[in-house]
Amino acid sequence: MKINSLMKSIALEYIWLDGYSPTPSLRSKTKIVDMKVNDAGEAPEWGFDGSSTRQAEGKSSDCILRPVRVTPDPIRGEDHRLVFCEVWNADGTPHISNTRAPLRAVAEKHAKEESWFGIEQEYTLFNGEKPLAWPEEGEPGEQGPYYCAVGSANIYGRDLVEAHLAACLAAGIRIAGINSEVMPGQWEFQVGPIGPLEVGDELWLSRWLLHRLSEEFGITVSFSPKPMEGDWNGAGAHTNFSTKAMRAKGGRTVIDEACKKLATRHQEHITVYGAGNDKRLTGKHETAPIDQFRYGESDRGASIRIPIFTVQHGAGYLEDRRPAANMDPYKVAARLIETICG
Ligand code: ADP
Ligand code: MN
Ligand code: MN
Ligand code: MN
Repeated sequence: MKINSLMKSIALEYIWLDGYSPTPSLRSKTKIVDMKVNDAGEAPEWGFDGSSTRQAEGKSSDCILRPVRVTPDPIRGEDHRLVFCEVWNADGTPHISNTRAPLRAVAEKHAKEESWFGIEQEYTLFNGEKPLAWPEEGEPGEQGPYYCAVGSANIYGRDLVEAHLAACLAAGIRIAGINSEVMPGQWEFQVGPIGPLEVGDELWLSRWLLHRLSEEFGITVSFSPKPMEGDWNGAGAHTNFSTKAMRAKGGRTVIDEACKKLATRHQEHITVYGAGNDKRLTGKHETAPIDQFRYGESDRGASIRIPIFTVQHGAGYLEDRRPAANMDPYKVAARLIETICG
């Protein structure tokens, strides 16, 4: 797997989002260069065939990869790098699929508020058609023992989960923690709290690393909001949010004001919170129904939960429980900033 170091060649793995809608996928390809690259400004722009990623017509197929973030490559090691990119058109405008570019404008406009995001990314590990925990026939035992469990009876896929955690940390991704989830074979990692562009970049990079490492384990990763029908929790991407004013003394008042603003924009938020989320936001399984908005202290059946930490300190952050596991963090961050800071 190691690139021959005698060749003094460095592998740059260019990673970007394709044009599949409503849920984009990650793509990547490798460029070999003869110099060390330590930040996005040093990584050359590159291109790709947009007609193979639903980003262009065959007649005029070149799309531009513009590097925005460079990290150590924990898989190839040494001086190799991951190069995360925005997609641009040849005419120098952001590509329509580039959801990071509009967030950049929103984040700049409201930079004074110093918004922070912590995203809880849930996902499900599959072996073929079924999650790792599923027997050949029937279903595993009902939910209860799996969340934060230890022991082979209740844990599935920990080798991959640990490899992913180590890789994210080696890449400098700011992971806040990991845990096994309520449905067997389901896991979570959290990224943040960090700014809106950073959290989006690091969430997409950590998703890429998870897919990449799953290849080595013969496992597939699903970000479906409802990977298994029936009495099983879906997979979300709870988005924890704060501004400087929310974190400061007396911030609870600002948080309550934010919740009241969120109440008036519920549908606009749901629209950008991930495809297939109606299957997950049923009102059961620790969710509020998709057509209702409610906020409450420590309430896991609410759209917005005020965590106990915030209640006790009278300041802190709120948790938006509505985003689905397959959401685009750039869209979610832009929507939250516009509603709350706008
Ligand atoms: P839960 O109890 O909902 O499972 P987690 O511990 O999984 O909570 O996730 C909480 C998330 O909130 C973490 O990603 C953490 O980084 C984030 N967080 C903590 N403080 C803040 C803050 N001030 N602003 C935004 N996010 C925060
Ligand atoms: Mn969590
Ligand atoms: Mn969770
Ligand atoms: Mn949560």
